[in-house]
Amino acid sequence: MNSQPGKLYRLQYNGHAIYALGDPHGFRMLARPPFGALETTSKVVSPREVRILAPVEPSKIIAAGLNYRNHAQELSMALPEEPLIFLKPPTAVASPGESIHLPPSSQQVEFEGELAIVIGKTAKDVPEAEAGQYILGYTLANDITARDLQKRDGQWTRAKSFDGFCPLGPCIALEIDPNTFTFTTHLNGELKQTGNLADMIFPIPRLVAFASSVMTLLPGDVILTGTPPGVGPLRTGDRISIESPDIGILENSVI
Ligand code: MG
Repeated sequence: MNSQPGKLYRLQYNGHAIYALGDPHGFRMLARPPFGALETTSKVVSPREVRILAPVEPSKIIAAGLNYRNHAQELSMALPEEPLIFLKPPTAVASPGESIHLPPSSQQVEFEGELAIVIGKTAKDVPEAEAGQYILGYTLANDITARDLQKRDGQWTRAKSFDGFCPLGPCIALEIDPNTFTFTTHLNGELKQTGNLADMIFPIPRLVAFASSVMTLLPGDVILTGTPPGVGPLRTGDRISIESPDIGILENSVI
């Protein structure tokens, strides 16, 4: 797995998790975690020596429900007047390449490709205009959902929280252009979703401001920004990948 220069990675290296910046020759180790100033070292490790991990270990994962106009239309739902948020537990995080287990209690597990915001510093009651100062960068996420349990339970905790139900990665892009950013979801190589941030109902600064008006956001926390149309079921043996030229490919297999 090659790195993308200038992107931020969390890696398994010599039995430890390290942070590194993508480099033309591999991965350049950081002196410390990237929350605060990014300080690189002279050490570059080879792609052969590492395994790419989910890029953060969040204290919590906040997720926006309906946040794409065309997805709301697909579901014949009225546009929400304020963000609908829910939580996924940190134990749901999976790394790129990690296998996702289908829980026996669900017969309808679905993928949801999403852009994820990574928080860079402690944030509480942040105004929208200042939200960018609290964002470290952006990664890709799969908000895996047991749809049958979501409908049956009424509230979403069980449906969204199984171990492995939040693949994140493969890296953190420190900047994206929300006017042009797109991502896609492929199931076994077939295009299923295209996300275009211009279709978002609540843009990135609004989501950060709204979430921080409810709870204190800590460095490494993640906000999933909602899924575009085209969600669908996952079955044993599937390969599901969320891809963006700016961030790379987040692929997981289903077992
Ligand atoms: Mg979602």
